[in-house]
Amino acid sequence: MPVQCSSCSEKRAVLKRPKTGHSLCKECFFWAFEEEIHQTIVSAKLFKPGESVGIAASGGKDSTVLAHVMKVLNERYSYGLELMLLSVDEGITGYRDDSLETVKRNQQQYELPLKIVSYEELYGWTMDAIVKQVGLKNNCTFCGVFRRQALDRGAIMLKVDKICTGHNADDVAETVLMNVLRGDIARLRRCTAISTDSENEGVVPRCKPLKYAYEKEIVLYAYFKKLDYFSTECIYSPNAYRGYARTYLKDLESVRPSSIMDVIHSGENLSVREGVKMPVQGTCSRCGYISSQKLCKACVLLEGLNRGLPKLGIGKHHRFHDKILSQQPLTEEEERKLKAVDF
Ligand code: SF4
Ligand code: ZN
Repeated sequence: MPVQCSSCSEKRAVLKRPKTGHSLCKECFFWAFEEEIHQTIVSAKLFKPGESVGIAASGGKDSTVLAHVMKVLNERYSYGLELMLLSVDEGITGYRDDSLETVKRNQQQYELPLKIVSYEELYGWTMDAIVKQVGLKNNCTFCGVFRRQALDRGAIMLKVDKICTGHNADDVAETVLMNVLRGDIARLRRCTAISTDSENEGVVPRCKPLKYAYEKEIVLYAYFKKLDYFSTECIYSPNAYRGYARTYLKDLESVRPSSIMDVIHSGENLSVREGVKMPVQGTCSRCGYISSQKLCKACVLLEGLNRGLPKLGIGKHHRFHDKILSQQPLTEEEERKLKAVDF
């Protein structure tokens, strides 16, 4: 027997909301999904009228839904924001080149300006070249660190006041679990924040309007709205550790859908005991980017790539920072250890 929409009681329900279990028609689902994001934006005061906002756009479902919903809400509630799309081209043949075509179509569909920054122009290395040198085990470390800075640099070029990213509730919950499992207290404290209000120069504040949106609902929204997005996985995607956290979370969700929100709330309410040593934020002596060490992670990774010592930025090698800065050569033994790619 057809089920009525539990919200309007007029139309036929086409889905059961993964987050609440409510049976809804298409229009009521769109409304509920968009309103929740609006509430998130308003209650966390994510934007101010007149601000320009760069939407980090990869062409994937999250950022496509983010761009679409931001445009809808900006018009519906007169946020007064100037929206733009900001994409990073990591240089991954057969993946990013195709997904960027999607972003270019989104640019036309949403009539938003688009800026693409590439690893090649910023660092002189594409991910294809990095994988050739470092293999497929630590490539995501390079990619993640480089992307963070690339987005900032792109945002500075675009002169935007803020960046918003498509991180969804599942991503945040996974990150909480990963940081618990790794005992990474500094990240654990930061990872549930909906926005970073960095006072550091050169770092553009970021926020996550989809922080409480379930991945399953993002997929449903994109599907029913017939949004144009790219759904292929990165060809260099081993990231095994996050994969385990993801599988675990999906198992929990299938037993109890509120698990995702529960993990986020646990993360939000954790407080760190006084006296626990935290890294002190400073700036990189080479490029000026924020860093708790003399050199930022991107500069060390880049130095490792350029010297043919890919292990330099993997793990803790802070003791080499002074040598790198003063351009002193490493000993043969040190070089031998850092050259190995069997890590
Ligand atoms: Fe980069 Fe790894 Fe993501 Fe691929 S899976 S885009 S290599 S971080
Ligand atoms: Zn640096």
